[in-house]
Amino acid sequence: MAIIVHKYGGTSMGSTERIQNVAKRVAKWMRAGHQIVVVPSAMSGETNRLLALAKEIAPNPSPRELDQIAATGEQVSSGLLAIALQEQGIDSISYAGWQVMVRTDSAFTKARIMEIDDSKILADLNAGKAVVITGFQGVDPDGNITTLGRGGSDTSAVAVAAALKADECLIYTDVDGVYTTDPRVCEDARRLDHITFEEMLEMASLGSKVLQIRSVEFAGKYKVKTRVLSSLTDPMIPLEQEMKSGTLITFEEDSTMEAAVISGIAFNRDEAKITIIDVPDRPGIAYQILGPIAEANIDVDMIIQNQSVDSKTDFTFTVPRAEYQKALDLLKNSVQKHIGAKEILGDAKVSKVSVVGVGMRSHVGVASKMFRTLSEEGINILMISTSEIKISVVIDEKYMELAVRALHKVFELDQK
Ligand code: ASP
Ligand code: MG
Repeated sequence: MAIIVHKYGGTSMGSTERIQNVAKRVAKWMRAGHQIVVVPSAMSGETNRLLALAKEIAPNPSPRELDQIAATGEQVSSGLLAIALQEQGIDSISYAGWQVMVRTDSAFTKARIMEIDDSKILADLNAGKAVVITGFQGVDPDGNITTLGRGGSDTSAVAVAAALKADECLIYTDVDGVYTTDPRVCEDARRLDHITFEEMLEMASLGSKVLQIRSVEFAGKYKVKTRVLSSLTDPMIPLEQEMKSGTLITFEEDSTMEAAVISGIAFNRDEAKITIIDVPDRPGIAYQILGPIAEANIDVDMIIQNQSVDSKTDFTFTVPRAEYQKALDLLKNSVQKHIGAKEILGDAKVSKVSVVGVGMRSHVGVASKMFRTLSEEGINILMISTSEIKISVVIDEKYMELAVRALHKVFELDQK
């Protein structure tokens, strides 16, 4: 008997019929003797619908109220699932985050989980119940309802699994695992049987939107055995088969196999880059530029500072395209007024493409192979950054798909 957490995404919870299928699958696991906690998302489209209602009334609604509204989506799907389980003859109870309690900080619309009280969950599991806990939401120290950011149910599930020291966290979704790249961009993309948590982190952060990035961080920190698998298979397929399907996120140190040099090609279409020309090169400048950006909660990704000439340097960084205008406005206020830079340039039509693989640590020549491939395709590289296990380039968004396909091929990701 094992404690297993199941997470079902919006598509899997998309209709009462699908919810009944989820209940059948969960019932199968319960009958095999496992203790199951289910963390569902809102029914597909529901969170968007709820947030849009608020925007009909105000262009910039209060984040606290947005959370109050958005959290209801998961409350509905959780209750429906508990009823569906009861109809399957399974004793089941659903809880909202504040009932468990899932404690978070107070960063409305992007709150972080601090702690999960496992006492109620364990008592119910030991009483033979399937426990359903709303994804995406929690409660802050003042009792306000918070949400964890879009896609946050993944993080809820992994955090619940960590709190319970569950044997496995199964993320059921509308794809059957993690692919070498997005199959919609490259038709030769292949499902990976396993991927290390560090590679997954890079893939998720680089925009392979299978899992919310925070869930992967959580899985890594607490060593939660996490598997991404399809919720669209027949719910009654044999358990042994289901347990081996999808993609398992592994830990490099536990792995006995030699890793592939490159595991995947990640990309992010919607980036923007900002360059500040002729910044005086003195201590504190990077902080003065990026401080206001961080305060506004804008994610900065790649950062490049040039070699300085005549005590002046250029400073470039990327932000999500949706935050581009906000970042520019902030900089015009802070940098141009107070630091005295010459000019601020921006380009909101860039994309990032990265090759990712832990095998890079022990192999040379990956970067040159990547750059040669891009040059053969006539693609100009605007920025480059690297880490131990990834190389990223920023390029014109027009060439993103071409770059992904060419790199997928040259690194032979279509072959096992
Ligand atoms: N319902 C939330 C969203 O749409 C959370 C999730 O689905 O993971 O973002
Ligand atoms: Mg999701």
